[in-house]
Amino acid sequence: MLKVENLTIAYGKTEVVHHVSFDVKKGSVVTIAGANGAGKSTILNTIVGLHRPKEGSILYKGEDIARKAPDKLVYKGIRLVPEGRQIFPEHTVEENILLGAYVEKDAKKIRDRMDEMYDRFPRLKERRKQIGGTLSGGEQQMLAIARALMTGPDLLILDEPSLGLAPIIVKDVFKLLTEIKQTGVTIMLVEQMVDNALSISDYAYVLETGNIVFSGTKDEVKNSDDIVKAYLGNV
Ligand code: ATP
Repeated sequence: MLKVENLTIAYGKTEVVHHVSFDVKKGSVVTIAGANGAGKSTILNTIVGLHRPKEGSILYKGEDIARKAPDKLVYKGIRLVPEGRQIFPEHTVEENILLGAYVEKDAKKIRDRMDEMYDRFPRLKERRKQIGGTLSGGEQQMLAIARALMTGPDLLILDEPSLGLAPIIVKDVFKLLTEIKQTGVTIMLVEQMVDNALSISDYAYVLETGNIVFSGTKDEVKNSDDIVKAYLGNV
């Protein structure tokens, strides 16, 4: 589904991601773990076209998408749920979800997807007239995910979906991601602490100061003492 090769990313002259390569197989869940400033968001933003890489390729379904515009990539089926959700706080829940379909012109398709979202997220349906900014953190995360699903993505990318949420709400978010995976969507996410992410992941990479220092299956990660100490809370 996604093959990143030799990706180097810089802000001006400062390189923050160095010759990184990784794979995300179709239908899988892949997590990238890393501390603050490791370069996780930079990689995600580059994949979705918000930043241009200095070097390297990003193959999506075999096509190099590395310098394509974000809206073109949404058309192709790649969708980002950004760090901190970034919902539109002044708009209602319903308006936020509809804004997620901004590249879709077919009104029937939009209505059908909206119905699907309300089936999947009954809480958002109940609150559809509520102003987005007044939702709880967990509800805002659900809203950000529903908004991203409005274009029926093949690859859903999430930047720290657990950030700032209570543990019990985090569990709900990851349960939801498992259900989304079961519908055939490939998922890539980044997290600082990976306990929950790992439980639903097929494969994980660890990023340190712009380099991948470890990769493996969830069991291989759990068997690595150094990684467990650095990125898993429950030891
Ligand atoms: P966090 O978990 O804190 O979000 P991260 O792993 O996502 O961290 P990035 O946000 O990708 O890390 O940042 C990687 C490095 O790039 C950091 O040193 C950061 O200061 C730098 N950086 C990020 N955005 C910019 C920018 N717009 N201009 C210059 N440097 C930036």
